[in-house]
Amino acid sequence: MKAVVLSAPNDFKTEYIEKPVIGDDEILLKVKSTAICGTDMRILTGKKTRGVRYPSVIGHEICGEICEVGKNIENWKIGDRVAVANVIPCHSCHSCLTGRENACMNRKAIGYEFNGGFAEYVLIPSIVMESNNLVKIPDDVTFEEGALIEPLSCCIRGQKNAGTKFGDIVLIVGAGPIGLMHMQLAKLAGAQTVIVSEPLASRREKAQKLGADIVVDPTKEDLKQIVMNETGGIGADVIIMAIGVPQLVNDTLKLCCKGGTVNLFAGFAGTGESMIEVNTIHYNEIKVNGSTAYQRQDYLQAAKMVIQHKINLKEIVTHKFNLDDFDKAYEVCKSGEGLKVVIEPEYQG
Ligand SMILES: [Zn+2]
Ligand SMILES: [Zn+2]
Repeated sequence: MKAVVLSAPNDFKTEYIEKPVIGDDEILLKVKSTAICGTDMRILTGKKTRGVRYPSVIGHEICGEICEVGKNIENWKIGDRVAVANVIPCHSCHSCLTGRENACMNRKAIGYEFNGGFAEYVLIPSIVMESNNLVKIPDDVTFEEGALIEPLSCCIRGQKNAGTKFGDIVLIVGAGPIGLMHMQLAKLAGAQTVIVSEPLASRREKAQKLGADIVVDPTKEDLKQIVMNETGGIGADVIIMAIGVPQLVNDTLKLCCKGGTVNLFAGFAGTGESMIEVNTIHYNEIKVNGSTAYQRQDYLQAAKMVIQHKINLKEIVTHKFNLDDFDKAYEVCKSGEGLKVVIEPEYQG
């Protein structure tokens, strides 16, 4: 089968490898759509190497059609359209036992320990089946939407950590695919006003189209002034950092209201170090937290949202490529000209 093989940091190409052979408790998925994630880009460019195997096939935002079913598998059949929750928690570490399976210390994942979705086929290993990590999607949900259930579930985890609630004024910093999902989720959670700050005009337009109340170009407008005007000088109730620039954190903290929450959702570039004027947190009792991956409950909620067409993910996909053109997809991601880029093995460019 065709697959994008990652041999070393910055060294990957589409080649033929052996099609996986399933065991009795496993499933083979014909990949229909796998989205490229920011994390994949960090792996491809060698910025992330921890937990990465060489050679391997990455890609963890996967949706496809079941094409082979092991003989012990019940409840799934050939032709089922499924999205994959790629993270498998261990169920026994400190994180898992204290309600944070998303931060499992021994997690295994498709796209990391197991070969991922930038291929014609992906093996769904038995521990994924045991963990009940497949979700069936109906015919009126596209495969690309199915692939985006995974990042959406990460955003749901972030929204829960941020505690967005009815009547809140929410600031989203960054309108990439993740920021655009957070914006829609904040509205669904009952936010009264969602302000989106984003330097790229095309992304601001998209944010507006998808329901942002206020969009701001932080390079030309005074974001602080706008947030303060909108909140009567109090600051935003919830702030989501959906861009991983450490230098922006300090200024962003100052846009939060007393007792508000700042969720550092994005993974931060470089060493992640940043100067913070900590008295902003101290005197204002600001809660600062992070977010990693998702719990299966978040994934199921994300899937339900997508299946019920409560969220617009189609608008977030701007480019499609097949496996042969993976390098083109990589360049588009690198340039930042698009939003979500998906790889569809059968795509006829
Ligand atoms: Zn991802
Ligand atoms: Zn665990």
